Amino acid sequence: MRSMERTDTRLHYRHYLAPGGVRYQAEPPVCNSCGHEITRQNFGWASLISEVDSPEQVEWIACRACTTIRQIGPLLRHFWALHHL
Ligand SMILES: [Zn+2]
Repeated sequence: MRSMERTDTRLHYRHYLAPGGVRYQAEPPVCNSCGHEITRQNFGWASLISEVDSPEQVEWIACRACTTIRQIGPLLRHFWALHHL
């Protein structure tokens, strides 16, 4: 489909499920909205979303250009450690 071809991001997910049925992004993490690589500088927000008809949760990340929300505290440090940022 042409619309799918145009969406050229480097979004990839890890091949294994983390405990709790969570599928995190592979390295390097990218913004789910615009596809830009996520760094400590442009990281905005990360959350887990559930897909319909799937027991899995997937990691959803937004850069600072795509969200005004800023993650802080333990979750932010967890994200950095998870992605070696
Ligand atoms: Zn973005």
